[in-house]
Amino acid sequence: MLIDSAKHLLPPGAALPSNEVSDALAQRLRKHTEGEVLFDAGSRGRYATDASIYQIMPVGVLVPRSERDIAAAIDIARDLKVPVLPRGGGSSQCGQATGAALVVDNTKHFRRVLDVDVQQRTATVEPGLVLDHLNAQLKPHGLWFPVDVSTSAQATLGGMAGNNSCGSRSIAYGNMVHNVLGASVWLSDGELVNFGPVSRLGARAADIAWFVRDLARQHRAQIEERWPKVLRRVGGYNLDIFDNQSERPYTEDGSVNLAHLLVGAEGTLAYTRSLTLKLSALPSAKVLGVVNFPTFHAAMDAAQHIVKLGPTAVELVDRIMIDLSLDNPAFRPTIESALIGKPAAILLVEFSGDDKRALLSKLKDLVDLMGELGLPGSVMEMTDDAPQKNLWEVRKAGLNIMMSLKGDGKPVSFIEDCAVPLEHLAEYTDHLTEVFGRHGTHGTWYAHASVGTLHVRPILDMRQAGPHGGAAKMRAIAEEASELVRKYRGAYSGEHGDGLCRGEWIEWQFGPAINEAFRAIKHKLDPIGLFNPGKIIDPPKMDDVSLFRFAPPGAPRPYRTIALKPVLDWSAWDVQSDPLTEETTAPGTGGDTTGGFAKAVEMCNNNGHCRKFDAGTMCPSYRVTRDEQHLTRGRANTLRLALSGQLGPDALTSDEMLQALDLCVSCKGCKRECPTGVDMAKMKIEFLAHYKARHGHTLKDRLVANLPDYARAASRLPWLFNLRDTLPGAAWLSEKLLGLSAQRSLPKWRADTFWRSADASMFASQGDTIATAADGGKAAVLFVDTFNGSFETENALAAARVLKAAGYTLHTLAKNDGHHCCGRTYLAHGMVDQAKAKTGALIDALLPLARNGVPIVGLEPSCLLTLRDEALVMGFGVRAEIVSKQALLFEEFIAREAKAGRFKLKLDSVDREILLHGHCHQKAFGAVSPILAVLQLIPGAKVELIESSCCGMAGSFGYEAKHYDISMQMAEASLLPALRNAPEAIVVADGTSCRHQIADGAQREALHVARLMDTLLR
Ligand SMILES: Cc1cc2nc3c(=O)[nH]c(=O)nc-3n(C[C@H](O)[C@H](O)[C@H](O)COP(=O)(O)OP(=O)(O)OC[C@H]3O[C@@H](n4cnc5c(N)ncnc54)[C@H](O)[C@@H]3O)c2cc1C
Ligand code: SF4
Ligand code: SF4
Repeated sequence: MLIDSAKHLLPPGAALPSNEVSDALAQRLRKHTEGEVLFDAGSRGRYATDASIYQIMPVGVLVPRSERDIAAAIDIARDLKVPVLPRGGGSSQCGQATGAALVVDNTKHFRRVLDVDVQQRTATVEPGLVLDHLNAQLKPHGLWFPVDVSTSAQATLGGMAGNNSCGSRSIAYGNMVHNVLGASVWLSDGELVNFGPVSRLGARAADIAWFVRDLARQHRAQIEERWPKVLRRVGGYNLDIFDNQSERPYTEDGSVNLAHLLVGAEGTLAYTRSLTLKLSALPSAKVLGVVNFPTFHAAMDAAQHIVKLGPTAVELVDRIMIDLSLDNPAFRPTIESALIGKPAAILLVEFSGDDKRALLSKLKDLVDLMGELGLPGSVMEMTDDAPQKNLWEVRKAGLNIMMSLKGDGKPVSFIEDCAVPLEHLAEYTDHLTEVFGRHGTHGTWYAHASVGTLHVRPILDMRQAGPHGGAAKMRAIAEEASELVRKYRGAYSGEHGDGLCRGEWIEWQFGPAINEAFRAIKHKLDPIGLFNPGKIIDPPKMDDVSLFRFAPPGAPRPYRTIALKPVLDWSAWDVQSDPLTEETTAPGTGGDTTGGFAKAVEMCNNNGHCRKFDAGTMCPSYRVTRDEQHLTRGRANTLRLALSGQLGPDALTSDEMLQALDLCVSCKGCKRECPTGVDMAKMKIEFLAHYKARHGHTLKDRLVANLPDYARAASRLPWLFNLRDTLPGAAWLSEKLLGLSAQRSLPKWRADTFWRSADASMFASQGDTIATAADGGKAAVLFVDTFNGSFETENALAAARVLKAAGYTLHTLAKNDGHHCCGRTYLAHGMVDQAKAKTGALIDALLPLARNGVPIVGLEPSCLLTLRDEALVMGFGVRAEIVSKQALLFEEFIAREAKAGRFKLKLDSVDREILLHGHCHQKAFGAVSPILAVLQLIPGAKVELIESSCCGMAGSFGYEAKHYDISMQMAEASLLPALRNAPEAIVVADGTSCRHQIADGAQREALHVARLMDTLLR
């Protein structure tokens, strides 16, 4: 059915197979390959988009396990006349990674480095290997692969070769084409052929080489005349390998390498099996000069002079980007450190090499040059590694920072990487800015000033039809931009490839004769048009609205969202923004039929940053499964397709949707680390509420969610409630009946809960506490959650003792029939109404204290932080805001007070290393550095933060039998090995579930920081 509905999404030239053919394809793939054959609507939908504005439903998806699988898939697809689209991280910006084809995902099983020759400085790799992962393996050899794309954490070498990708340091190292030495590929007839230096080709490859050479000879005059002579030209095929037109020769010795024909071919000529790459020496030293410019024009004009100093990078960050970075708490300190006054733009000028003294002298040359150009005192010099690295991270995040604009107008990629010779850069950018203004929009400029490729994306609303709609403006702006590119003899396609948005401009750039030569190349290598049709050859119009992800009214299948009454308040996303000023309208005015939920989901632009494996949390379920389905992007796409009715009726509450969200551990890693702030944990609550409303709650749901309600009763009869872990067979039974893993022990109920054990004399009354705070004295209210209060009384008592010892007047909340609860367990099971009752009661209890400025101190990150997160979207209005402003984790409170000189304690010293595991929600709220600061208050403390994602327990997730294996894999990813490597260390973990996971997985006791401090009180 989706095949039919995808008809309109086909680019001209691509044949859409019938449902019978698609069924046959799936059947034969299942029979003849060992790969994952994904033909359901959700899976196909998850592969229908890349980081462009387009969406094309694939016929099906194969995640092959072996090379045999790929070879078989090519044969079967050829036999059934179904196109094949090889795919890497899917981070392309122009639509080249989308197509009505069998999409073959290389990223799960083809990510090995096959060979490294340190002497020759070469590496052979599989196509699904991610750049950062290659470079991590090369680092011990003092080598790296220097095509440093911004998406280095998710871009694959196969995709980079497909796009002829270019990094920030291309002025020094060239583009992908300059760094590929060979490729082993399947041609569409199934033959495996090696492409490399023409002097060493086999018969088939040699035949192709001579064919291309003859074509190039035939078109020599046209090539001379039409070929852009800039380094950054990636459009069309590299017909110039026999007659190099690039500013930088493709090979160092001027020889011809046939593999270069495939680089930038966007998967249209062959399927890459492996690539041999040229490596470079990793420079041992780098210095950075950040030049601050009073005007944007001055920055652009200076680039041509700066490059003469021989920098390895010259990168632009304009004022809008500076301001956006300043608005982001994670980036603010870094960007501030680079600024002198309030510049209109900055250029990051890097010199690298092995002789630091020589680099410092270059930096001085830069300072002198700026003086000569009339800008003395404009260079912020950065000679240490750490600040340089931080600033590069901000620059790399450029596009993502920009994409966080809310509303339907978004920065759109289509003329975002035109390259012009440096001497024209200032004029070009001035004129293009005028063009934007005339079309009622503006763009943010950044990136590669060194090579004349500045990224700029005008803000357009692709959902709007008519003359003011995105498609019309896109066309008009592209026409004018192309005139400028022609005037300055630049390249229209300078970095990200042609795909769907620049395919039609290939003929414009190279002329009809060369375009026909490109067609001849395609026909020579892929005569049956098997590979990625509709790209480079016979591309569609860039503004074909039937290919848009958000198609406007009047398109064959306009994008519309279903009507939905959300249970949480998403109105902050339900806004529109002004394309000129970027000002947004009031919350709730964006016209979203789902109250803003859909618009929050649509914030995912598919850039794929959540596929990262580096420091940080996002996305634990992807890190262990490597499945697109179990990735923040996959989930957001599934939700978007369901909310827009593209997965059929009731898709939002379907079991397929449950599956897509099932392994989301609600760690909130994406809330902080996704550049556009996609908050899947919150989305899961919204989803679960609707799903459970339709399907009902299970017994296990009720048992876990209602735990705060029966905790008091259970603590009266702990032996009875603990029978599950003491009575033989009970654990087994609980797995069968409730789905709780028999391999897990459950938290132990106990009679001496905090509420029974706490000595009343420790705590002051509400009135006294407020009075102390009002007098400027030291006061706080300790909010004891269900878990610490019921199962780990000692933590809550320890926290109270520490705060008392430091001289605080301490209050705690009382409740006659139990204790106050933040509502977390109910939220985790989609019981939003019950959660509202709990959270609301807690807020009401805390309100008088919060109103009087009494800090609210909590111990369990997921409970306390509910007050700063979900409570704000549950309809409590200003009451929740007042309380949230006072809510602090124990360590945040102490760190803040210590900084203000109000917290002083005499503590014993420790002589053992302290290993710290941060709870995901602590990380999401930037609350890890406060624990580090607090631990530093301990004399002699040597603290190491474990670089770990989620521990895998995540509330009740890890207790469930169906999640047990995944949960342990998450723990084994880095947390448990780190603990085993430090058997003597004290382990600190503030999360209840983290402590349990550590006990289960490493048989070690982890302590809440409060307990550690308590044991050290003098
Ligand atoms: C935020 C952001 C920043 C970016 N920054 C940069 C940048 O700095 N520099 C830059 O150059 N690009 C950049 N890009 C574009 C993109 O990330 C790069 O082009 C990247 O190299 C694509 O890699 P991928 O693995 O995601 O490839 P994909 O998007 O999956 O595929 C790219 C192309 O390669 C083809 N392909 C993939 N595997 C094979 C194979 N095995 N055989 C044959 N063909 C194959 C595909 O069919 C497709 O046409 C950026 C994109 C985003 C979203
Ligand atoms: S979820 Fe966020 S990080 Fe992942 S692709 Fe979407 S926008 Fe990028
Ligand atoms: S909340 Fe965590 S597990 Fe869920 S999508 Fe975000 S990063 Fe992944």
